[in-house]
Amino acid sequence: MDINKIKADALVVGGGIAGMQSALDLADQGYQVVLVEKDPSIGGKMIQLSKVFPTLDCCSCITTPKMSAVANHANIQTLTYCEVQSIDNADGHFVAQILKKPRYVDEDDCTGCRQCEYVCPIDVPSVFDLNMTARRAIRVPFSTAVPQLAVLDIENCILCGKCARACPADAVDFTQTAYEIELEVDAIVLATGFETTPIDAKKEYGAGNLHNVIDGLMMERLLAPTGPYARVLRPGDGKEPESIAYVQCAGSRDETLGVEYCSRVCCMYAIKQAMLIAGALPMADITLYYMDIRAFGKGYDQFYQNAQAMGIEFVKGKVAKITEDENQNPVVRVELIDEGQVVERTHDMIVLSVGMVPQYNPGSVYSVGVGEYGFIKSPAPNISSTETNRSGIFATGAATAPMDIVDSIASASAAASGAAAHLEAVQGGN
Ligand code: SF4
Ligand code: SF4
Repeated sequence: MDINKIKADALVVGGGIAGMQSALDLADQGYQVVLVEKDPSIGGKMIQLSKVFPTLDCCSCITTPKMSAVANHANIQTLTYCEVQSIDNADGHFVAQILKKPRYVDEDDCTGCRQCEYVCPIDVPSVFDLNMTARRAIRVPFSTAVPQLAVLDIENCILCGKCARACPADAVDFTQTAYEIELEVDAIVLATGFETTPIDAKKEYGAGNLHNVIDGLMMERLLAPTGPYARVLRPGDGKEPESIAYVQCAGSRDETLGVEYCSRVCCMYAIKQAMLIAGALPMADITLYYMDIRAFGKGYDQFYQNAQAMGIEFVKGKVAKITEDENQNPVVRVELIDEGQVVERTHDMIVLSVGMVPQYNPGSVYSVGVGEYGFIKSPAPNISSTETNRSGIFATGAATAPMDIVDSIASASAAASGAAAHLEAVQGGN
């Protein structure tokens, strides 16, 4: 296997909003940064979202310029479709072994024209649209992907060769193989992000088998301008829903799932989505079943009050069970806390407000400590939340704890500051 060698000041792992912000902050201070992203495009979860709370700014309008700034910054080298395999210490530096996965498309030649995608006969579920639509076996990952390069899914490809014949740049290369990159740096920022608690985690809520029960991230895609249907429709039968309910804490504050903490974002994203649905479907009834609403940030409580004023129904109740009737309408069994009674209510569609769990365990590669729930742990969380137990390795964003976008960006800048101070100390200025 070929090994390419690179030297830089800092490695940032993860190309979501936190990783991009850390990389930009370090690069703006003159440090040479390598940003490694496991997916074919940077952008992370944020590029999939509709709007941010509480300002209702378009997510894409915030994220796309950041992606572009990263890609075009003279001090940032972005390595997409790459994974860090190991980290060693050598002469006081970190040496990372990075695996570059094959795209089966030559990155220097591909222009992102999509001619390959148009002729490919194979459809597979779209991960970007959370399996609600299909994508081709070869495709540019999404419309605003950075870099705008095709990637071929060799596992689903039937090797018909249509893409290669259609490609005007002769960029499709079925013989491409993985190769290794060896990167030497003096500081590392881990921005490995989060996953949502799986929709099939709770059998009481249908274990992912109910036709019109979706999770909060799927609703983000339905509400996004680039979403699968360009409107909110039931995935089960394509019908426009007239009654939509949110079930809060569906994956947080739940001992049975081992997720006993509050994920901090679910109340606010549910309220935001409810407001957006009220705008998109003005005749629809929208209900939130909640234990308590946690609107903790600046302007958040006012946002909650605005949602109440818009007619969204907030019902204090614990949902015990979700089933569906013969028309695939979800039915919730809920204990109404104020009334002290258990009732069943039927809706057209249910959204589970799923929580946040760590994206992956960094312990084996980076030897950093993780806490009880798998988030990267700081030895002094109250005074230096982005430090890890290893000097020179910092952690940021939702890799360290559940947090919203505002806090992730602040945390990313804090991690970049910590990394810059470390670089100053070990390099004596740059
Ligand atoms: Fe266009 Fe070829 Fe790239 Fe496909 S692989 S996007 S056809 S240049
Ligand atoms: Fe699609 Fe594979 Fe055929 Fe290319 S070779 S068009 S990726 S099925």
